[in-house]
Amino acid sequence: MNAIEQTLRAVAEAVLSDRDAAKVDLDALADRMAQIADANPNIGPRTRLKRLLKLISSRLGMALLGAYGPFASQPLSARRQTLMRWSTGRPLQRTAFQALKRLALFAAYGCEPSLWPIGYEPLEPSAGFDLETSDLPSEADFIVVGSGAGGSVAAAALAQAGFDVCVLESGINPRQLGLNEADGFHQLFLGGGALTTRDLSVSILAGGALGGGTTVNWLTCYRPPTLDQWERDSGLPKRKIEEQIERIESRLEVNDNPVELNLSNLALQRGCQNLGWSVHRLRRNGTNCADRCAPCTFGCPYGAKQSAPLTYLKDACAHGAKIVCDAPAKRILFNRDRATGVELSNGEQVMARRGVVIACGAIESPALLLRSGLRGIGANLSLHVTTATFAQYDDPVSAFWGAPQAVACDQFLDEGILIETPALYPGFAAAAFPWPGDPLEPGLAVFLSIIADAGEGRITLDRHGQAVIDYRPGTRTSERLLKGIEEMIRLHEAAGGRNIRTLHQPPTDRPGKIVPNRIGLFSAHQMGSCSRAVDALGRAKGKDGLFIADASLFPTSLGVNPMITVMALAAYVAEDIVASS
Ligand SMILES: Cc1cc2nc3c(=O)[nH]c(=O)nc-3n(C[C@H](O)[C@H](O)[C@H](O)COP(=O)(O)OP(=O)(O)OC[C@H]3O[C@@H](n4cnc5c(N)ncnc54)[C@H](O)[C@@H]3O)c2cc1C
Repeated sequence: MNAIEQTLRAVAEAVLSDRDAAKVDLDALADRMAQIADANPNIGPRTRLKRLLKLISSRLGMALLGAYGPFASQPLSARRQTLMRWSTGRPLQRTAFQALKRLALFAAYGCEPSLWPIGYEPLEPSAGFDLETSDLPSEADFIVVGSGAGGSVAAAALAQAGFDVCVLESGINPRQLGLNEADGFHQLFLGGGALTTRDLSVSILAGGALGGGTTVNWLTCYRPPTLDQWERDSGLPKRKIEEQIERIESRLEVNDNPVELNLSNLALQRGCQNLGWSVHRLRRNGTNCADRCAPCTFGCPYGAKQSAPLTYLKDACAHGAKIVCDAPAKRILFNRDRATGVELSNGEQVMARRGVVIACGAIESPALLLRSGLRGIGANLSLHVTTATFAQYDDPVSAFWGAPQAVACDQFLDEGILIETPALYPGFAAAAFPWPGDPLEPGLAVFLSIIADAGEGRITLDRHGQAVIDYRPGTRTSERLLKGIEEMIRLHEAAGGRNIRTLHQPPTDRPGKIVPNRIGLFSAHQMGSCSRAVDALGRAKGKDGLFIADASLFPTSLGVNPMITVMALAAYVAEDIVASS
C-alpha cells in the first residue's frame, strides 16, 4: 500500500463507526475511494482532492492543517479527534473534512450491501431508452446543444417545423435504466454526481446524460408562480407562456393520480394535517407509477417517467432530428457575430445553416458561452438552495421506497420556502448527514426545504475551461433557510418524529446558523445564469443566430420545482425562432 492508499484506509476507518467498519473490507473500501476520486470528470476538484490526500499523508501537510504527524500514523481516536476539530474549524479545515467524510461515506454506504438499511433494495436495471442516436453530421439547419428539459422541447419544435435539427448531448445514451447508486450518479449526473460549489459548501445535482434533468428528476410538476413579475420586469408574456404550459403538461401526461406515500411523504402529510398547515398532493409526469415504484433518480426502469427521451426527443427524432450523444460542445463557432456552428471537445465541428440553440442547463450553458468568448455571462445564478431535516418514525413503511415526491407543504410559499421530500439512497444520505452519527437508522424520514434565493451565485471558468460555481447565501436567503429548518422541525414534532436532527455539523436538533461547510446544503434546481445576456425571446445580445433555451433564462429564482417552466420558456423561444426563420 502506498502512502495515499494508507491515508484513504485510515480516513475510512476513522469516519465509519466501529460497528460499520467491522462489516467492510477497509482495503477494498480505500481502493473504491481512490476510484471514485479518480473518476471525477472535473479536473480542478479532482486535482484539489489529490493534493489534499497528499497533504495529509505528510508530516508537513498535517502541520499546515494544525495537526501532528501523517494522518495514517495517528491512532484511531486521534484521527477522529482531528476530523472533529476540522469539521468546525477554519474554512480550509472544514472543506478538507467535508471532502474526506463525503468520499468515505459515499464509497462505503453507496456500494456496500452489508451497510444498506432495512427497506432499501436497488432495482433490477432495465434496458435503456428506445431512441436511436446518430453519428455527428457535418451540418444542420439548427444545432441544439443539450438534450434536457429545454433542449428536447426546442429540438422537437424546430424539427416539427420542418428544419433539419442536430442535438448534441455531452453525456451518454444509457444502456440501462434503474441503475444502482454508484453507477447512476457516475453515468447520469453532471460531474459524475460529484459537482459542488468551489468551496464544497453546496452539492449540486444536475442531469448529465440523454434527457438531462428529465431522466433523473422526481416528476414533480409545478406551474410557475412568478409569471406576473416576469411579464412586468422582463417582458415575458404571461399568456403565451401559459399556453405553452398547457401543451407541455398534455405531452408529459401530467396528472394527479394518487401514488402510495412512502415514509417521508406520509410524515410530511401527517405533520401538516396535525398543524392545520396547507399540504397538497403533487401533480406528476408519471404514468402507472403506483404500487411498483422505487425511487427513480437513476432512470425509470418501467417507462413510467415521461422524461424527454420518451416524449420530446422522440418527437424530434420522428421528424428527422439527429441526436448525437458523447458529444460535449467545447465552443460556438462564429462568423463575425453570427453563430455558424459548434466545435466539440475532440475538435470535430458541425456547422449550423440557420442557428445554434444553447440548452446545457444553468451551469454548463454559461460555461460554453464564456468559452466561446461571450462576456457578461454567469452572474445571477440561483440554486434553490436546499437543506434537510430528518427524524425517526415507527410507521411500518420505508422512505427508501416509493415515489420520491408525492406531497408538498406550501404553507410558506409566499415567504420563499417550499417543503417537500427527497429520494433517499444510502450513499448520498450517509455522505450528507452530520458526523458522527448512525446515518441510516430504521424508520428514517427526511424533509427538505427549497428556498427561493436571490441570484447570489456566479459561474466562471477555471484554467481548464471548466465551470466553477461560487455561491454564498445572502442575508435573506440565510433567513429563509433558518426559517425553513424551524418549520421542518415543527412538522417532524407534529408528525410524531423522534431524534429530530438538522444537517448541521456537529449534529444538532436546533436551527443553528448558516455557515459554509457547517451545514449540508444542496441544489437540484439551477437557474438564471444567462438571463442578463439575452432578450425576452432568448436571443443572445449582440449575436445573430444564437439562442438560449434552458433554465439559465429565468430572470429570477422560481420558488417551485422548475422543469415545466424550463420547458415552457424553451417552447416560447423555439416558437419565435420558427416564426422568424
Ligand atoms: C435529482 C433531481 C431531481 C429533480 N426533480 C425535479 C422535479 O421533481 N420537478 C422539477 O420540476 N424539476 C426537478 N428537477 C430539476 C429539473 O430537472 C431541471 O430544472 C431541468 O431539467 C433543467 O432543464 P435544463 O434544460 O436547463 O437543463 P438539463 O435538463 O439539465 O439539460 C442540460 C443537458 O445539457 C447537457 N450538456 C451540458 N453541457 C453540455 C455541453 N457542453 N455539450 C452538450 N451537452 C451538454 C447535459 O448533459 C444535460 O443533458 C430535478 C433535478 C434533479 C437533478
